[in-house]
Amino acid sequence: MAKLTVDSLDSKGKKILVRVDFNVPLDGDRITDDTRIRAALPTIQHLMGQGARTILMSHLGRPKGEPNPKYSLAPVAARLSELLGKKVAFCPKVIGPQAQEAVAAMTAGDVLLLENVRFHAEEEKNDPTFSKELASLGDAFVSDAFGTVHRAHASTAGVAQYFKQAAAGFLIAKELQFLGMALDNPKSPYLAIVGGAKVGDKITVINSLLQRADTLLIGGGMAYTFLKVQGHTIGTSLLDAPNLGLAEELLATSKRLNKRILLPSDHVVAGAFSAEAPAEACGIDIPDGKMGLDIGPETSKRYQDEIAKAAMVVWNGPMGVFEFPAFKKGTFAVAEAVAACKGVTIVGGGDSVAAANQAGVSDRISHISTGGGASLEFLEGKKLPGIEALTNA
Ligand code: AMP
Repeated sequence: MAKLTVDSLDSKGKKILVRVDFNVPLDGDRITDDTRIRAALPTIQHLMGQGARTILMSHLGRPKGEPNPKYSLAPVAARLSELLGKKVAFCPKVIGPQAQEAVAAMTAGDVLLLENVRFHAEEEKNDPTFSKELASLGDAFVSDAFGTVHRAHASTAGVAQYFKQAAAGFLIAKELQFLGMALDNPKSPYLAIVGGAKVGDKITVINSLLQRADTLLIGGGMAYTFLKVQGHTIGTSLLDAPNLGLAEELLATSKRLNKRILLPSDHVVAGAFSAEAPAEACGIDIPDGKMGLDIGPETSKRYQDEIAKAAMVVWNGPMGVFEFPAFKKGTFAVAEAVAACKGVTIVGGGDSVAAANQAGVSDRISHISTGGGASLEFLEGKKLPGIEALTNA
């Protein structure tokens, strides 16, 4: 279902309450990576251009429902002021008279940042009274925090019901456009690449991708559980033993649906899970005492060839322990191939996004999802509370 977007929202001169994702990494009060703040700029600048009064709210870290200066958003207000070239007012309260007064003091084009919404236990409980108090600050609502839309919290979902209009910001609109295409209207041949540590964590998304994609490439730690099902030896590689049955079912489902699941046919192995462990090449069967930490060169080549042929690629999860330089080649080869693919390419999930960044290919990907858990749940076909709450277009 298409949702109202911020560019179609009547925001001229209005007070617009915007949920952003300013959950940035901090070292004391120094922001070590401002990517998330920069990502919110288009929506904020659009509203400023409309002469709206933009009231921003976000969470930061896990303050567990009470005020904690360690998780204050004050440093974010300072950084946002620099990025916008305009002073952003900071309100040390989220709701109540002080917040109301801060909003009343705003003039057209002003931007105000409220303190961390998770300083209130009511936020994560999606408490209606708290939601209503938040809503009383604005005339309309905009959500641009895709990373939290799978959570039914007051500032992400509860608040929306008190507005006539609740719109998607530019970040969420782009997520809906691309992830929506992968879910409802994929281009064929559609290739899904799933990696990462455990089968159990991604079973639902694999199932959903299997229904929609033509081919599924599997890599990373989860591949060994599938190889074990096929009767291969996996040495001391990651094994998701409780989910062996599920892996077997997925392989059977792929046959039934006439879909292809491709698994690694060679590996890079080591004697220990360590960045210092010497990397060794290994065929499909892994001997005792060795663990697979990356896909091998033959597998990389097979996967690259598949990726090159795809009209649409969705990639979630690394092909190996790319954090260790000796075991990053397979993940980087996939990243490079996804970037070179002429089709629509989508990368979702924290680790594959980090891998794409490290491989230096991010600017050649059609869409990099900003929400790990949220993009997985979206691709699983689940209804996300923070999206459902928005006004239909
Ligand atoms: P996930 O969060 O499930 O996408 O998993 C990402 C993590 O899986 C990364 O930190 C990788 O280091 C890890 N990983 C990928 N391949 C392997 C492997 N072969 N053995 C152990 N861990 C792996």
